[in-house]
Amino acid sequence: MLNFDFHTHTTYSHGTGSILDNAIAAKKAGLKGIAITDHGFSHLMYGMKRRELDKMLAECREAQRQTGVKVLLGIESNIIGEEGVCDVKPCDYDKIEIFLAGIHRAVWYPTNEDFERVLVENWVTQLTKIKPSKQLVDYNTKIYINAVKNNPIDILTHPNYCVFADAVEVAKCCADYGTYFEINTKKMHLTPEEWQKVIDTKVNFVVDSDAHSPDRVGDLKLFLSQDEVVKFPKERIFNFGDKMPNLRYTEFKKHL
Ligand SMILES: [Zn+2]
Ligand SMILES: [Zn+2]
Repeated sequence: MLNFDFHTHTTYSHGTGSILDNAIAAKKAGLKGIAITDHGFSHLMYGMKRRELDKMLAECREAQRQTGVKVLLGIESNIIGEEGVCDVKPCDYDKIEIFLAGIHRAVWYPTNEDFERVLVENWVTQLTKIKPSKQLVDYNTKIYINAVKNNPIDILTHPNYCVFADAVEVAKCCADYGTYFEINTKKMHLTPEEWQKVIDTKVNFVVDSDAHSPDRVGDLKLFLSQDEVVKFPKERIFNFGDKMPNLRYTEFKKHL
């Protein structure tokens, strides 16, 4: 069913395997390709290093040569604030081949307000299980929407991980700008009811493992169990069967 896993981590960030290990695992799983998408540079604990991009790209090419599996160098960029700024810069464009972005916790935020709202308020809300305030949901939704509007993001990773946003508004924006809404098989962050409302928008999807170890590359278990309840529209999952996503960032780079 899955042909390409667009979201995998290696020892360059929070993963346990090498780029080659992930490519070998992809081959075993019968995939035709993977993307190496380590955490963006501003992640405080696991951020990849800009100075290592050349080495990573060379390892991707070598892993592809050895396994016959297509290996793209990507990034899981951090969205760092209200304006939707991501930690990919124009100087990275020629090395990075696919642009994923998501919200994470242990990240450097440029302003105190972003730090307090994105990190502290969401975290406290999650820990205390109180209902998130409308103000917080609106703020988070704005961050996602601004990120999708202002950056050529191919895939929005694990929407609503760490934060409470209006997933339907985020999905509508992704549909408008050609960003794929990820169905992440490491952990689901939307309820079946929320997924149903997201499906009712026109957004397109990819399913990704978010593997932090090679044995999880191409893992669909969580998707398959959720699919029994949610019934995801397979014709809108663009890394299933013989479909491939139309990557916005690739188009963007052609016009630089
Ligand atoms: Zn992530
Ligand atoms: Zn990830």
